[in-house]
Amino acid sequence: PQPVLAVVGRPNVGKSTLVNRLLGRREAVVQDTPGVTRDRVAYDALWNGRRFTVVDTGGWEPDAKGLQASVAAQAELAMHTADAVLLVVDARVGATETEEAVARVLRRSKRPVLLAANKVDDQRGVSDVHSLWSLGLGEPMPVSALHGRGSGDLLDAVLEVF
Ligand code: GDP
Ligand code: MG
Repeated sequence: PQPVLAVVGRPNVGKSTLVNRLLGRREAVVQDTPGVTRDRVAYDALWNGRRFTVVDTGGWEPDAKGLQASVAAQAELAMHTADAVLLVVDARVGATETEEAVARVLRRSKRPVLLAANKVDDQRGVSDVHSLWSLGLGEPMPVSALHGRGSGDLLDAVLEVF
C-alpha cells in the first residue's frame, strides 16, 4: 500500500487548493473512504515517480464542540490514520489558538509532521513565515497554493519523510 499524507488545518487556510496543487492535475482519482468518516476524501498523487495518497480533511468543519476542538480532533484522527501529517497555516493570519492546540496534538505524534505556511504569494509574504517556528513543528515551508510557489519543495519534503 502507498504511503498516506493527511492535510489538516482550519477552514479557509487553503487545504483543498494545496491538495489540488500537490496532485498537479484536476482529474485525480477521488474516492470516499468508507467507515472512517464520510467526509474524508483520498486522492492518488505522483511525484518523482513515487505514488502516495493525499487525504483532504476539509470535511471536518466546526461543529458543536467549536472550531478548536474539531480541528484538534481532525489532527488526532489524521495522526492515527496517516503516515505523515501536513498542517496548513494561513501565513497572513499566523498561528492562532487553534493552530497552537493542533500543534500540541501533533507534537505528541510519532508520525512526521510538515508545516506549510500558505498564501505566501510573493516576496512580501515571506516575512510572515518566521513566526510559525513558535509552533514547535520545525521549519515552516512557504507556499502559495494559488500560484504554485514552493509546491515542488514541499513535495520533495513529503517524499523525504515517508
Ligand atoms: P480550505 O477550507 O482550507 O480547504 O481552503 P480552500 O482551499 O477552500 O481555500 C480557501 C480560500 O483561500 C479560497 O478563496 C482560495 O482561493 C484561497 N487560497 C488558497 N490558497 C491560497 C494562496 O496560496 N494564496 C491566496 N491568496 N489565496 C489562497
Ligand atoms: Mg477544503
